[in-house]
Amino acid sequence: MTDASLRGASVESLFADAGALLDGHFLLTSGRHAGRYLEKFFVLQHPRYGVELCRRFAEVLAPSMPTMVVGPTTGGVILSFETARQLGGSVRAAFAEPAPAGGRELRRGWTIGPTERVVLVDDILTTGASLVETVEAVRAAGVEPVAAAVMVDRSGDPVDLGCPLHSLGRIEIPSWEADACELCAAGVPLRKPGSS
Ligand SMILES: [Zn+2]
Repeated sequence: MTDASLRGASVESLFADAGALLDGHFLLTSGRHAGRYLEKFFVLQHPRYGVELCRRFAEVLAPSMPTMVVGPTTGGVILSFETARQLGGSVRAAFAEPAPAGGRELRRGWTIGPTERVVLVDDILTTGASLVETVEAVRAAGVEPVAAAVMVDRSGDPVDLGCPLHSLGRIEIPSWEADACELCAAGVPLRKPGSS
């Protein structure tokens, strides 16, 4: 895909072009079996795709007039930095890390001023747990996030973050309970993603 065609491409075709949308027979952490799998770091390992996705984040988040972009580790480290860079001016980037007592927190000595406008970014929204924890980390630092954006919304039920949530796209992934899996019935070998 040329740099010019990246701009008009759907999120699904960006993932496919980056080799980040894998076809096969996958065991998900939920125990379900799926026919496709998103390997999000396959898209983030290529700066050109990451830059394009963060350009879209900056576009949807700019109307919220952010002063700071925060994302959950690990993908959010990359996404918050590049989104803040594209928003320009003095917009800062930070990330929310797992806290020893559970949930997430802003570490590294970072603070948020009481009048700051914080927006959140994340890669794939499934249960929304990492974004909800990031909302709580920002609240604990003293402000309410004003908006959030994700590359791909894979959630079944709407996730309530207490602020508007923008999604750059949806990617449908068929999945089944193990005992009703069409791919098992067809004898396709099962793979656990992330292992070879
Ligand atoms: Zn199966």
